[in-house]
Formats: sequence, C-alpha cells, structure tokens
Amino acid sequence: MTYKTKFTRLLALCMLAGLFLTQTVAAQAPATHDEEIQKMVGEVSAENLRALVEKMVSFETRHSLSTTTSKKVGIGAAREWVKAEFEKYAKASNGRMTVDMDRYTVKADGRRIPQDVEMANVVATLKGSDPSDDRVIIVAGHLDSRATDVMDAKSKAPGANDDASGVAIVMEMARVMASRQFPATLVFVAFQGEEQGLYGSRHMAERVKKEGWNLVAVLNNDIVGNSYSAEMGIHDNTRVRVFSEATPSNETEEQARLRRTLGSENDGPSRNLARYMKITGEAYVDQIEVVLGYRPDRFLRGGDHTPFNQQGYAAVRMSEMNEDFDHQHQDVRKENGKQYGDLTEFMDFEYLRKNTAVNLATMANLGRAPHAPEKVGVLTANLTNKTDLTWTAPSKGKKPAGYYILMRETSSQTWDKKFFVKDTKVTLPYSKDNYFFAVQAADELGHTSLPVLPVPVRQ
Ligand SMILES: [Zn+2]
Repeated sequence: MTYKTKFTRLLALCMLAGLFLTQTVAAQAPATHDEEIQKMVGEVSAENLRALVEKMVSFETRHSLSTTTSKKVGIGAAREWVKAEFEKYAKASNGRMTVDMDRYTVKADGRRIPQDVEMANVVATLKGSDPSDDRVIIVAGHLDSRATDVMDAKSKAPGANDDASGVAIVMEMARVMASRQFPATLVFVAFQGEEQGLYGSRHMAERVKKEGWNLVAVLNNDIVGNSYSAEMGIHDNTRVRVFSEATPSNETEEQARLRRTLGSENDGPSRNLARYMKITGEAYVDQIEVVLGYRPDRFLRGGDHTPFNQQGYAAVRMSEMNEDFDHQHQDVRKENGKQYGDLTEFMDFEYLRKNTAVNLATMANLGRAPHAPEKVGVLTANLTNKTDLTWTAPSKGKKPAGYYILMRETSSQTWDKKFFVKDTKVTLPYSKDNYFFAVQAADELGHTSLPVLPVPVRQ
C-alpha cells in the first residue's frame, strides 16, 4: 500500500467518523422545518387575496349599523358572503370544519350604538385531529368598515385595508388549511362591531372565558395590506409590525411583585407570542421582517386583540409598517385632485400575501406542536453560576420528542440561543443572573409550543 493510498484511506475514515459524529449530534435535535407548512405558505395567493378584498369592497359599506336585509349591500350581505365562502372551503375538510354565524345583541350605549342592534361574528372552526389536545388558536380580522363619521351607516365605506385586508388573511388561511390536519383546534373569525367599540371581539372573548376554552393564542390582523406612506414618501413591503402587551392585563398583585423582582416585564405571554410569530414567520416566509412593537397597540389605540388580553389570553395585533391616513376612516372623495378613501387601488397584495403567510406559518407551527411544558421552575437553593431548570411533560396532547431551552441576554429583544434536551431537567453552564430562560416542548418535526418562563423554586 502506497503512502498516498494509506493517507486517502485514513482521510476517508476520518471523514466517515466526522460524518457519524455530526449525525449523532444532529439526530438529537428535531428538524426545524416542516415541508408541509412551507407548501401551505406557497399556496397563499396574492390574486386570491385581491379577489377577496374586491368582493368585500363591492358591498359598498360594511358599517355595523348598515342594512342587513339587502342581498347586495351592507353588513348583512357581507356576513352571508363570508359564511358561504367558509362553507366552500369546509368541503375540503371531511366534515372537520364547521361554520357558524355567532349572533349577539349590542345594547344602545348613547355613544356609537344609537339603539339596540343585532351583530354577528362569522366563525369557521377546524376541529383538532387529536382528541387529547384541547388547545384553541384564533386568527381574526374585522369585517365592519367606516367612513369619516363613525355613525354614518349609509355613505360608501369600502374598508379595503381597514379591515378587508385582515378578513382576507383569515379567509385565505381557512382555504389553505381546511384540508390539513392539526392536533389543536383552529378558529377563523371575521368580527363585527370593531369600529363601534370592539363589540364582536368582546363578545367572543367573554364566551371563550365562560366556556373555559384552552385558548393559547389570538392573532389579530387589522390594517395589514398597504405598504406606502405618501406622507413620509416611504415604500416598504418588507417589514410588518406585531404589537403585544408586555405583561398580562389581568395579572395579580402577587404576579406583579414576582415580575418586578425578576425583571420579567418584557416576557408576558403576549410578548412571547409576538416573538414566536417573528421567529416562525421569518423562518418560513422570505423578504419579510416582523418588527416587535413593545406596546399593546399603536399609541393610545386598541383593537380586537384587546378584549382577549383583558380576559388574560395571549393576543397580538399585526399591522402594516407605514399606515396611510388619507386612505383610512375617510369618505371616498377627491379634494384638490387628491383621492381620499380606503380603496383597493392603494393596496399592495404581494405585501398582504407575505403577511398572510406569516400568520399561517405561526398558526400551523403552533397548531402542530405539543402542549407547553408544565411546572417550569428554576432552582434557587444554592448560589451558583450555573442554571438548573426543571419542568414536567405536558399532561395533555401528544408526547413531546424533547424540549428547547431558550436563552437570551436580559437586553436582547428575542431568543439568541437554544438547547435541545430529551429530559425534563437541565443544568446549563450559563448564569441565571445574566440571562432570561424559557422552556418549550417540541415534536420530532420541530413544531414548538409557546415558551414558558420558569418561576423560582427552592429545593
Ligand atoms: Zn380596523
């Protein structure tokens, strides 16, 4: 055997050993990409979204106090059309998707409701495929629209962007996801009454609370389809905002005390849902950056996620990066040659496609994940520069393949390191004094639960 052959053999052996080692390490952690989610993302169509928005605009007004008797104009006709579309999509679900018109009466309030009125949310529910999984995830937008005067139920109020864009996201997701399996139950909602005072979402949040749903996430989409601010001269369809409250609206005094002690004011469930949306959305969708808004909504504003926050649920709001106020809450008119009004022509459907895909990837990844780990704690008995974390496997849903420990510096906006373990405890060579930690459950395809922050445990 020549020296050269020997060397080649040795080299091949080393490479083989290297390959083996890499594979052993890699085999430990699950895959991070689900090909089927990527496929679903690819099925979201800008042309479908345009057709959906154009149809909603064709009802002339979808004001919550507009007619419910016409077949062609007003909120009544618009609701019936959304319901009929959902029923079309449901055909692909083998009976797993059901469609409801959830009606409720809103009492006269002397402000934006002059007399008692019946409203309705249109709801499509894709039942979870795993009976042991009781999680529910909601994606929503609001069907109602408005003109300049919020009480004007007659004038044209096309509401292409506010918020036919959000409802189009909900409908396109229902279409793409209806034929697929998710262990968790997915709920697609078009709310009514947002502009008059968040009536539809409040009705649903109260119902969810009363009926004791295990609601793990609400993705609210409102004003998500315009990428151009004429006022600022900014054209940007590569960034979108996701707003989240920092800490739960309904936190107790005891929880608030612990939060102040730990400095976890940036880690409420809604904030961590927003991070999840950023990480998952950016992993599956190209040319989009999710910008985390560290406040519950835009300055002094609120939306359909707010009533869910108030009931203690993780709920976030997606909105475009640069709003155009000439085409929002404005009568359709021309002034000095300038067009006002929320019209389809001012929308960017490629942008809306990407924003739909971010929602879809988030809902699909979470919907296929195991339940979150329970009793997540950080041991505090000894002073040490290491961090000991413990938790228990989720008591419901499928068995996780393992767990990711997420870690970030206290000043980082999102998780910058993660570790995979199969056990329900870990000791990390990083100090809890210098980092935030959270634990999420993962299956073999890398679908991950929402992260759970550890609470101090003395042992
Ligand atoms: Zn809106």
